[in-house]
Parts: sequence; C-alpha cells; structure tokens
Amino acid sequence: MNIKKEDKLYIANTYKRFDLDLVKGQKELLYDSNGKEYIDMGGGIAVNIFGASDLQWKDAVISQLNLIQHTSNLYYTYPQVQLAKLLCKKSSMKKAFFSNSGAEANECAIKAARKYSHDLYGNERYFIVTLKNSFHGRTITTLSATGQDMFHKDFGPFTDGFIHVDKDDFASMEEHIKSNKVCAVMLELIQGEGGVIPLDIDFVQKTEKACKDNDVLLIIDEIQTGIGRTGAFYSYQKYEVNPDIVTSAKGLGGGLPIAAALFNEKTENVLDYGSHGSTFGGNPVCCAGAINIVNRINNKLLSDIIEKEKKIREMLEGAKGIESVSGMGLMLAVKTKKDAKEIVAKCMANGVLYLTAKDRIRMLPPLDIKKKSMEKAIRILKEACK
Ligand code: PLP
Repeated sequence: MNIKKEDKLYIANTYKRFDLDLVKGQKELLYDSNGKEYIDMGGGIAVNIFGASDLQWKDAVISQLNLIQHTSNLYYTYPQVQLAKLLCKKSSMKKAFFSNSGAEANECAIKAARKYSHDLYGNERYFIVTLKNSFHGRTITTLSATGQDMFHKDFGPFTDGFIHVDKDDFASMEEHIKSNKVCAVMLELIQGEGGVIPLDIDFVQKTEKACKDNDVLLIIDEIQTGIGRTGAFYSYQKYEVNPDIVTSAKGLGGGLPIAAALFNEKTENVLDYGSHGSTFGGNPVCCAGAINIVNRINNKLLSDIIEKEKKIREMLEGAKGIESVSGMGLMLAVKTKKDAKEIVAKCMANGVLYLTAKDRIRMLPPLDIKKKSMEKAIRILKEACK
C-alpha cells in the first residue's frame, strides 16, 4: 500500500502530515515502517501520558474489553462512577459529565454556564469572556470561544455571545465581568496552541475574585494542561484558584478518546435530566484506561516532572540559537533564532519528534519519559538550533 498516495486520495485534506508513518511504539520510543526509532517529545499532543502501549494501561483497557465494551448511558457502569469519584478527589470538584473530546467538554461547560445564568438571572446574561490567542476547540461554538482570527475565516456565522480580551488586561476583563451581561470567563492558564504562554498569576487571581464577587462562573480549560502535565494534577492548583467548571481531555484517556467537564458545589446541579448527553461519553473501556492513568499521577511523578523541567531549562536556556523557554512542567516551548519548522525537520531526521506552536518548538513528552531519552532528545534539539 502506498500510504501517502492513498491518504491523499481518501482522507479529507485537513492535516499537513510530516513525511513519517508511525507503526508501533513502546513508552517514549516510536518506530516507523522501516524500523527507524524516534524519541517522542510530542506525546500525541499531550495524550500519551505514559507513552505508547504502556503495559499497565493496556492491561486495564483489555480487562474491561473482556467484560463489556459499551452499554449506553441508560445503565450504570462501574468504571464511569469510579473515574468520576477519582477525578472529584483529585480536583476537589463535585460531579463529572463525560464526553469524547476537548471541544465537547468545552461545549458542555459553555452550556452549563449559560444555563446557570439563565436559571438565576434570565436570558440576557449569556456572554462568555475568553482571551485573545486562546484555543478552545473546533466546533462552531468552541471556535467562537477561541480568540484567534486565523481559525475564524470561512466558517461564519459564529455562535453569538463571546468576547475576547487581551491576556493579562485585567481592567478590560473586570469591566466585562461587571457588565451584567456575562455568565462566565473561560481561560487556559497556559495558552497551548497559542505558543505555550502562561498567564500571569496576578491576572488569574484577580479575575477569579472579580468572578466570585459578581457571580460570574470561572471555567478553566485544562484540556492540554491537565493530568499532571504542568507538575500539578491540574494547573489551576498551581495558580491557587478555585474554578466553578474544569474541562479535561487529551491525557485523561492515555490514548483513548474521553473528556470530562467537572462541576463544583455551585454548578453541580445545573445540568439536569435531558439537558445534556453523549452516546459514547464515559464509555467503560475509555474509563477503565483513564482510571489507570489518573491513579498513577502521584506526588513522586509530579515532583519528577518539575525536576525534568529544571533539567530541560538548564540544558537549553542561554544555549546558542535559543532565545527563550516558556511553559511549565513538561509543557514547554522554545523560541529559536532559526525557523522552528526547519529545526523540527532536522530533529526528525535525527530521530526525535518535536511539535510546533506558532513560531516555537513545543514539547509535550510522556510524563514518565526516561531521563536518558529526554536528555538525548534535548541534545539533538540544541545541536539543531546552533
Ligand atoms: N482546549 C485546549 C486548550 C486544547 O489544547 C484543545 C486541543 O488542542 C482543545 C480544547 C480541543 O480538544 P479536542 O481536539 O480534543 O477537541
């Protein structure tokens, strides 16, 4: 089979693929059809938390497959309830709604925020404030939430009711929060697709306070930052804020599609019978895999992540051809003097897979990547940046 030719013939033209076919992997090592080995510094864009074909995760998934693969949400299933309980414990939230992708989790959060305000204040208070340069998904409503013009061309009309303010512009944020038209603020604490740019802690904490004072909900999009990625289970725990709704996906399933919207005491009963649903959401196989993943995000792993960040920064900061390193934990990006795409191609030729975000080189490796592999990957990056 000529995969490139048949991909072009049969797959919609939405992806610009690298010239690489991946056929198998073991932890942070991936292999193409010629048997060439690559160190995976992208983790399937923050999905493969414990790398490829992790044995423990695979066992959990296969055990559930041997019992039952799907039942529909008309029946109780043990993995779904166990996962919800576990996520609530890790996040201090109260209830979970499961879906299949990050965009769907954000859709759920947006619906819940609008309903919260509708129930209490009537139907005029429906605006949601997000940030410029944010990314919240690719459905029409989550695109409307996304604060980047490049995603907006060709798809209008968009869902009404989104306002985009500049990152760290608290004066403008506060004005909107106090306007009596806004039901929620939705933030990624580190803008992932926007270039791996952390928000200022003071801005986030002031926004939280203004939201609380005005009964405006704070939604934190943890789709890329969650499940240990930044060195905390969720990044809002590092920012020391208490969101009303949290959305989580990507790494949650360790490679199978699952997402969650988590609700606190204020929002846990907003969605009621029939107001939302999903055929596959909370599928027992995905939940069984996710339980295994979430149970393994422990303090030892989180402190190792911080140590790995330190090591990466130590190796890269001040090195020839490198302007800066941004991000947190194992969600990092490197601004380089040379073109990022050229560097990524060079690293790939030398057996390391990196990602880009805007004009930066981005890394989201498996959280338990071996130090030896990580340091080798960083040395190859450093060499390519010179
Ligand atoms: N929100 C954030 C912060 C993301 O990074 C992404 C995906 O990159 C999404 C939402 C959308 O997630 P999905 O592609 O699973 O719909």
